[in-house]
Amino acid sequence: MINKRLVGLCFLIGIVCVVFIVNACKIKQRIQRLSNLESLESYRTDLNIESALSCSDPMAYVPDEYFFEKQIRINIHFMCSEDSLIGFSPKKGPEYMWTLLKNANKRLLENKKMNLPEGNETPALNPKYQYLKTAIADERGYFWHYDDDLYGFVNKGKYRNNYSREVIEKYEIGGDSIVNIFVMPHHRDSLKSKSYKTHGTGIALGNSLKIAGLVEDKKKPWAYATLLNHEVGHVFGLRHSWHGNDGCDDTPVHPNCWAESKSRPGCEGPISNNMMDYNNSQMAISPCQLGIVHKSLTRIKGRYRKFVREDWCQLDDTRSIIISDNVDWYGERDVRHNIIIENGATLTVHCRLSMPPASEIRIKPGGQLIVNDNGWIHSDCDDYWNGIIIEQEGSSKGQLQISHDAQIEDIVS
Ligand SMILES: [Zn+2]
Repeated sequence: MINKRLVGLCFLIGIVCVVFIVNACKIKQRIQRLSNLESLESYRTDLNIESALSCSDPMAYVPDEYFFEKQIRINIHFMCSEDSLIGFSPKKGPEYMWTLLKNANKRLLENKKMNLPEGNETPALNPKYQYLKTAIADERGYFWHYDDDLYGFVNKGKYRNNYSREVIEKYEIGGDSIVNIFVMPHHRDSLKSKSYKTHGTGIALGNSLKIAGLVEDKKKPWAYATLLNHEVGHVFGLRHSWHGNDGCDDTPVHPNCWAESKSRPGCEGPISNNMMDYNNSQMAISPCQLGIVHKSLTRIKGRYRKFVREDWCQLDDTRSIIISDNVDWYGERDVRHNIIIENGATLTVHCRLSMPPASEIRIKPGGQLIVNDNGWIHSDCDDYWNGIIIEQEGSSKGQLQISHDAQIEDIVS
């Protein structure tokens, strides 16, 4: 009898325990999904957070660990004489330029530590951009033009045309979203003059660039890789860095020495190895210079964003961006992954942030997302993202604060 009562009592206690545990689990797993714009309105608040950098400051675009590598579209035009005796042939041209392009991309990634100023501690960052040869229709991104009026590059004398945009205006393809690179021989008339030099040279003109001297030179393609990097740098806003007016504090003024020289004052060494100077290295890009390039490639109202393949519109859910510290995103930014804000961490969005379609921002218990006054979270993909998820565990809950002036858009309803 006693045993039966005991069994009954234990059974009852068991049920109570199970109910308690189930309820406890329910509390543990509470998840609030803010997947429509109305549900976010209750998180609006007055924020009084000063942004250390404005949305237009290049330093807000210095690549960090959360950047993805941007692919810049380019194509190649080979200019030739009408008798096809001058210029790269359809066989040699692609071989040459493909080797050059690969080497240019490799050298960008190698980004060397800056030589100047002496004793500097300027970090050599991953530049997070590369060139992408872009096929159009059946073409592989290579084009030939046989044109006696426009094939030749002349950088000296009466017929000087290095600053002329004529060849670009006639032959560029997709010029609003592709960097058109014109590979030009020096003009055959110039070669008749003994004082004319057919050295490798280049010039950036708006969104396009002209490079010359490659076909005449016996040097290997890689010898011109940094010339290409220098000229593309101009396209995306970089200036020569030796003058001191390039908008960067980390590129000092110097005499612009090609090589170390005991006979030239100021060139005894060390000399600059910066990509935007004229020197025999051109292998270093400073953080500020990278900031200028990425500002060009990222700002939604800028003319150069269209030159980047829209990788931010493909959600890559093989990994997430984990915010595990206090992180400020000052510049405009596009991401390719879901974002998880961990316990004890805060992500503050100060400018525009584009989320890929079907992505989410998850705030873990004890984590915090702040969308500051100029903050704007959207999906720049003609599509919708999935919104913000706030997790709660017991009394610990993810925190969300959205400025009254911030914008949240493109959430799926
Ligand atoms: Zn230049």
